[in-house]
Amino acid sequence: MISKNFLFVPGPSHVPDSIQRAMHQPMSDHRSSEFPELVLSLLKDIKEVFKTTSGNVLLYPASGTGGWEAAIMNTLSPGDQVLIPMYGEFCTRWANLATKHKLNIYPLNSEWGESASAEKIYETLQKDTSNSIKAIFVVHNETSTGVVSDIKAIRKAIDTAQHPALLFVDGVSSIGGIDFCQDEWGVDIAVCGSQKCFMLPPGLAMIGISEKVKSTFKYSKCSNGYFDFSEMIKSNKDGHFPYTPPISLLYGLRESLNLLLDEGLKNVFMRHHRLASGVRNAIKAWGLQLYAVDPLSYSNTVSAVIVPNDIDANLVIKNAFENYNLSLGTGLSISNGRVFRIGHLGAINELMLAGAICGVEMAMLDALIDIELGSGVRAALESYLIENNISSSINQIKR
Ligand code: PLP
Repeated sequence: MISKNFLFVPGPSHVPDSIQRAMHQPMSDHRSSEFPELVLSLLKDIKEVFKTTSGNVLLYPASGTGGWEAAIMNTLSPGDQVLIPMYGEFCTRWANLATKHKLNIYPLNSEWGESASAEKIYETLQKDTSNSIKAIFVVHNETSTGVVSDIKAIRKAIDTAQHPALLFVDGVSSIGGIDFCQDEWGVDIAVCGSQKCFMLPPGLAMIGISEKVKSTFKYSKCSNGYFDFSEMIKSNKDGHFPYTPPISLLYGLRESLNLLLDEGLKNVFMRHHRLASGVRNAIKAWGLQLYAVDPLSYSNTVSAVIVPNDIDANLVIKNAFENYNLSLGTGLSISNGRVFRIGHLGAINELMLAGAICGVEMAMLDALIDIELGSGVRAALESYLIENNISSSINQIKR
């Protein structure tokens, strides 16, 4: 197809031209005397996005799943008990990976569409008087359902229960798009991937580790080779890697961090909120429901939309792609056929999203869903006008 694909899956996200240009460079020698300057600047600036000053952010050639594995392998041992609130596909996948490493999973099950319950975590930890739970794995933004969990409340629950478990958080579809405060929330390991809010191609796992985690390396008995944190930290000190890094992605990351920090993280989060609100208003105007049950946990990076019972959501996705060159996210596992997902993360603005919402409307009408043409687009545009007016007046007041 000649036209540009409208990429509105919840990752990979649209890669801005300036990042594409930054990556499109001749290859260079990662052992040269000038390479460390780039690496050290990346390792310094990415800490601002994770909001950590005391920790380290490590960069691995891997996807987000590799980040999960690295977290497990560096800190835990077969037989260790891990508490995992389960409320979506990525919670399940992390738990399955942990099982492969012979960890003992303690699941805290909720319905899909709900968020992690700090109360349930507190109750469970309080009963664990022998401290057999070694870590808690929480998915901050559950991309399968469009639900955000309150990590600050979970940290409070752990502290109130006076439990020593490590807190590992998956920020794959939140960090860089939704506020994330590694130090303030006491997150011991934060896992992210390049292909979502960092606006990069897939292939770079970003892992924020706390000071406390560094003292656990020597106790871990999970086999630990390629992802060895201590080797990475040692090499990173003077701007090197223990092996050949993904050089083009590092060039791209330099530009990604420039874009995020130049816009200002606060503005980036406000933009995501504003754009997500427009999508939510469109969904409401169509008379449809979000998969996320609680408005307080609505995600600003992805919305999962439930289609009417007699419709297959995959038909909407197929129509969108084949008729309008618009890519939407499919429903994962138990939600397949029931929902389609709209990714609203990374390098997007009102007009790009308005185009996507137009495409969703047409694809739904092609699938014979009874909505009024233009209703969602109108609702989104109205909310963008109002929201923009409010935020520009806030900015004026601040000045
Ligand atoms: N965690 C979340 C919340 C995700 O959305 C994804 C992927 O979409 C992953 C983990 C897995 O990441 P990857 O596909 O990069 O391995």
